[in-house]
Amino acid sequence: MRSRLTVIVLLVSCGLSRATMQMAGSGATPATAGLVQCLQGAGASVLTQSSDFTTYNASRQVWNEKFQRNPAAIVYASSADDVQRIVRCCRQFDVNVSPRSGGHSYEGYAVEDGAVLLDISGINSLQMLDSSHAIIGAGIKLGPLYLGLWQNGSRAFPAGVCPAVGAGGHLTGGGVGLISRKFGLASDQIVELEMVDANGNLITANAHTNSDLLFASQGGGGGSLGIITSFTIQTYPVPEMVTIFTTNWDLSDTMPTLGWWQEHAPAWPAELGTDFQVFSSNAQFSGMYLGPSSDLMAILNNTGYQDLPAKQSEDFQELPYIAALLHNAASSQGLKPAEDINSLALGPGTSVSGRSFFKAKSQLSNKPIPQAGMQLIQDAFANEGGQGYWQAHAQGGAISALPVRVDLKELGRPAHPSFCPSSSRV
Ligand SMILES: Cc1cc2nc3c(=O)[nH]c(=O)nc-3n(C[C@H](O)[C@H](O)[C@H](O)COP(=O)(O)OP(=O)(O)OC[C@H]3O[C@@H](n4cnc5c(N)ncnc54)[C@H](O)[C@@H]3O)c2cc1C
Repeated sequence: MRSRLTVIVLLVSCGLSRATMQMAGSGATPATAGLVQCLQGAGASVLTQSSDFTTYNASRQVWNEKFQRNPAAIVYASSADDVQRIVRCCRQFDVNVSPRSGGHSYEGYAVEDGAVLLDISGINSLQMLDSSHAIIGAGIKLGPLYLGLWQNGSRAFPAGVCPAVGAGGHLTGGGVGLISRKFGLASDQIVELEMVDANGNLITANAHTNSDLLFASQGGGGGSLGIITSFTIQTYPVPEMVTIFTTNWDLSDTMPTLGWWQEHAPAWPAELGTDFQVFSSNAQFSGMYLGPSSDLMAILNNTGYQDLPAKQSEDFQELPYIAALLHNAASSQGLKPAEDINSLALGPGTSVSGRSFFKAKSQLSNKPIPQAGMQLIQDAFANEGGQGYWQAHAQGGAISALPVRVDLKELGRPAHPSFCPSSSRV
């Protein structure tokens, strides 16, 4: 049994937007003609610095503008077959291949100098396997995933807020969001995955086949074991209406409000997911409750919410679950248009706020921050201000429990036929 986690602290600083993109460096190792020919023979359209510099330069960008790396070539896959052929070429020419799903790694890990950048955002299908399980392409982004599940039986998936984060990196790295205390981490929901290994073989991992590979992929991080092309995931029902809320206090009230939050949040019912953030001018408590606002207010007031210092502002809204996701994506990620749930699909005519130049650092803590630590946080923002922020996520609930291993046979599906002996794994 994992120990019960109480608080995860995410220290994020600096979100300076840079209007102009840095140009590719001259030190890039170009792809050899042989490699380009092999990739083209594999059916991939290949971008290099010399073939189309402008498109290459735009296509190598990831969310964090701080990282300006120069891949030997950039290729796009739209099927597991494409990935297999591309990996075999890279192996033949002894060149690393780095997969990119949503490009949201804080440290820009999806792009490597001199490697072939394999963008899998085109592998983005969603298909319900039965009423509670879906098979998704590993390149699908969270917004289209949430919308697709909602439109296929009002199902929900516990994961992060940003609609442009990719499943490939998110599900392999953990993935935490406002309903995680109720249902667990995103990686806990993986029932089966398909992965292309370093030999270009397509292998399956589930409770029976390559179960150690499945375990390693549930939080071990992407980019090292192979290239995942699809996940079979567990999905959940949620109440028709949920409550989302945001309360702000003056920065000078950080200590009593943060102290209150960290004392109570880990013990609140699992239906209540909350965050606490500190900015240069205010302290903010926000979250989602899987139920009506009257029940939420009772939970909060029973734990002293009404006795806290005077609030700068308070906003509680009861919304259908999908509208609540849209609201959060619009307010924190600038998703537009904010009135139409279809914008979660990130199709033409929609936009999310642009990339930024930032440094983020996170830490898990299983005990409350002491008074001196809270004072330090408050003073840092009071004295230094800036565009950075400090954020803590309350954990516990289902996040503390080990995921239940689902037997695919129970879902009425035979074990996948493309089983390979474990010796063929990377
Ligand atoms: C704006 C923003 C908001 C975020 N919000 C949240 C949040 O609410 N909750 C949360 O938990 N996290 C959040 N994150 C962190 C995010 O979940 C991780 O950075 C995640 O790894 C991003 O996945 P990606 O596919 O978009 O990234 P990528 O950069 O494409 O990939 C990340 C890593 O996984 C590898 N990888 C990608 N696809 C595959 C694949 N198919 N097979 C194998 N390896 C692969 C890459 O090579 C890289 O090493 C946020 C990040 C940002 C920038």
